[in-house]
Amino acid sequence: MSTVLVSGANGFIAQHVVSQLLEKKYKVIGTVRTDAKGQHLAKNFSTPDFQYVIVSNLSLPGGFDEVFQQHPEIEYFLHVASPFNFSDVDVEENLLKPALAGTKEALSSAHKYGKNLKKLVVTSSYAAMGWTYLIDKSIPDDIYIDEDSWTDIPWDVAAKSNGFIAYVASKAHAEREVWNFRERENPKFELTVVNPTYVYGPQAFDSDVTEFMGETSEIINRITKLQPDETPRRERGMCIDVRDVAGAHIIAIEKDECNGKRLLLFNASFSEQNFLNLIHKFYPEQFKNVPIGEPETTEATLTKTFWGDIHNEKTREILKQDWYSHEQCVKDVLEQIVRVRGL
Ligand code: NDP
Repeated sequence: MSTVLVSGANGFIAQHVVSQLLEKKYKVIGTVRTDAKGQHLAKNFSTPDFQYVIVSNLSLPGGFDEVFQQHPEIEYFLHVASPFNFSDVDVEENLLKPALAGTKEALSSAHKYGKNLKKLVVTSSYAAMGWTYLIDKSIPDDIYIDEDSWTDIPWDVAAKSNGFIAYVASKAHAEREVWNFRERENPKFELTVVNPTYVYGPQAFDSDVTEFMGETSEIINRITKLQPDETPRRERGMCIDVRDVAGAHIIAIEKDECNGKRLLLFNASFSEQNFLNLIHKFYPEQFKNVPIGEPETTEATLTKTFWGDIHNEKTREILKQDWYSHEQCVKDVLEQIVRVRGL
């Protein structure tokens, strides 16, 4: 069976990717930053079809060279790892540079040493498509956004911005590198980019239900811990289930129609009020302390979610996935939290 290299294998999305690959009988080599993380993963996946290698920092020159040299059998490479931390203060060093360097290194190692590599799939983001308005408020809020759209935030501007803007820019600059590389080097392997919006869903393993659960999962986790006198934030956006994002990565390696494409993934809108409603719909007893907020405003909070008029019909047509409904996604997240916290 084919061997797939997955970078950042211990991440929220990557663990689902690895899990689905193993279910489909691929052999998986996952990169992690430390031996402890690798051992933890190997224990959770508990199969000889999963092994890990250490790539301690995405910015290291030739970071993936050795992996390809030691594993000429690799046929697919899913480069999922990227810094994902909106609260970082040294945004150029810790977000922008490693995101870009990691992508460059992934491409260059694959190009130099990926003897049997057929396809490289890079996890980008909607952040690389529709968020120029973060720095340019003159952009009309009904601007048409689809798989051809780009976020344009200059490096220098991003480097002086907050963690969120810098993260958004890091994804755009890193993804530009993918397509520039393809143009410049004409590699013998195919390239596909996956661009998810906010990704929600259960953790692949209960042991990842922790106090802080990463930038997106934490949005729901935080709401489940709200006290009666606290009000939700105004966070809202488009979203997709993590299991579908993982599935899209696998379709990307299996389907030729994905070659050279950007796959824009969203299935629903969310708002914090909408999460409150679902918490009380599915687990009223377990979360009776959580405020109900203002349910009558839900529709308004959901109709205008992101800047722009966003379309992913082309992606849906290619993937033909049967996506999890938003309610099911949130219900499964809550079910896991209730079970793990013993509520
Ligand atoms: P996680 O934070 O869970 O995973 C990120 C992974 O990248 C981890 O394995 C992390 O390692 C690794 N990583 C980060 N920085 C470095 C570095 N400097 N050197 C080496 N490894 C590094 O995030 P997600 O699973 O949510 O995100 C995965 C990918 O999906 C990212 O590319 C992200 O931009 C993208 N994405 C995520 C969305 C979401 O809503 N979650 C939406 C759209 C795109 P470690 O754990 O050791 O820090």
